[in-house]
Amino acid sequence: MGDCYSAGVVTDYEVVIGLEVHAQLLTKTKLFCACSTNFGQPPNTNVCPVCLGLPGSLPVINGEAVELAVKTALALGCTVHQSSIFARKNYFYPDLPKGYQISQFEEPFSTKGHLDIELDGQTKRVGITRAHMEEDAGKNLHGLGTDSVVDLNRAGVPLVEIVGEPDLRSSAEAAAYLRTLRDLLVFTGVNDGNLEEGSFRCDANVSIRPRGSEKFGTRCELKNINSFRFVQRAIDAEVARQTAIVDAGGTVRQETRSFDPDTGQTATLRSKEDAHDYRYFPEPDLPPLVIDDALLAKAKASMPESPSALRARWTSELGLPVATAVTLSAHPEYARFFESARKGSKDALKVANFVVNDVLRSAKTHGLSASFSVTPDQVRELLSLIDSGQISGKQAKEVFAAIEGNHAKSPADVVKEKALKVTTDSGAIESAVKKIVSSFPDQVASVKAGKKGVIGFLVGQVMKETGGSADPKLVNELLNKLIAEG
Ligand SMILES: [Zn+2]
Repeated sequence: MGDCYSAGVVTDYEVVIGLEVHAQLLTKTKLFCACSTNFGQPPNTNVCPVCLGLPGSLPVINGEAVELAVKTALALGCTVHQSSIFARKNYFYPDLPKGYQISQFEEPFSTKGHLDIELDGQTKRVGITRAHMEEDAGKNLHGLGTDSVVDLNRAGVPLVEIVGEPDLRSSAEAAAYLRTLRDLLVFTGVNDGNLEEGSFRCDANVSIRPRGSEKFGTRCELKNINSFRFVQRAIDAEVARQTAIVDAGGTVRQETRSFDPDTGQTATLRSKEDAHDYRYFPEPDLPPLVIDDALLAKAKASMPESPSALRARWTSELGLPVATAVTLSAHPEYARFFESARKGSKDALKVANFVVNDVLRSAKTHGLSASFSVTPDQVRELLSLIDSGQISGKQAKEVFAAIEGNHAKSPADVVKEKALKVTTDSGAIESAVKKIVSSFPDQVASVKAGKKGVIGFLVGQVMKETGGSADPKLVNELLNKLIAEG
């Protein structure tokens, strides 16, 4: 380190971040026993001799968990290995009755993938070192009177740990990585993306080094960050702490730290242990994990189109703006809604805008499911009423308000009930057009001078004048005619 770390010499540091994500696989039962993985059950009700670590009990691998883990690896472009080894990671903690966690160490089931993230219009590829399977520990609950208690419902729940390369260079990149990863796992149907319930958790390894240096600085690990907002704040706080230490001529110590959202500071949890402290050794009660060609083929066949593939297709084939495509691919049910609503439509952009602006406004997601105030069929019917000139865009808003929350209501019936129709009475429209042309001489002059875009403003004024009922095509024709004549 020497001179370059001396006080006052270096002020420009590069931030280096690598993230480790623990994602709960969406199985009904635990990784090595038949206990339920249901969240929110009374403490210590989903337990058995295997997950309690009672002597003589034997773990049996859950095939569903393996299949979901393989899909996770495929979604990340990882190489899936035919044979891998479960290992015991030995440590003592009250939430770990066995005294060890079954994980994978030297031979994980998958390695070397990547995740593309988007930030400020730039795409960046972040390396994935490995994804391995492991069981979760229980949960210590503190602060119940003077006691702390242990709930082992989580003990043995299947996790996939996704270890990213230290490729991230800012807290904003870290947050983008986490969101992208969360969306990808939800899309793939392997994880519910629920940070609050702890089914998607992140540890961040953070270090700084003088810009231009090849050598990594000493890293600190920030434990169990459970919100996207906190990850950025936690990393920024940790970077500020390390920078202050190094600027003052000190050395950063390797340790595990936690972030306190109330103080906005990170604090020491424990000095960081290294892998050898865990005395890993192959789990003697489990055979090597074999992922054969049949299982791999089955997982491949059930892979859905990824959010990034959807975005690429929608922007190139349908001409959707990137921001619209990103919004529609933020959840698998949004994507399904849009694909269903646009069936038979020639104007995918119009459908996309309607779904984003009107439907998603009130949509709610929970894990893999989502609820909408209308159905794709209703949207299709409503848009076709506009397309065929039966109602105007403004009237469509009125129809939409009438069908919201009632999936059985037909937009065409609302049009009949409310006696809505587009005014094609050219006499009435013509007088409105005349009025607008005489009220906005400057804009009319602009159109004459070749500023064709201004015509949209005038059309809008005529629509306003007619209470939104005029046929926009007719308005356009009449306006152009009148301006050309005048
Ligand atoms: Zn059990």
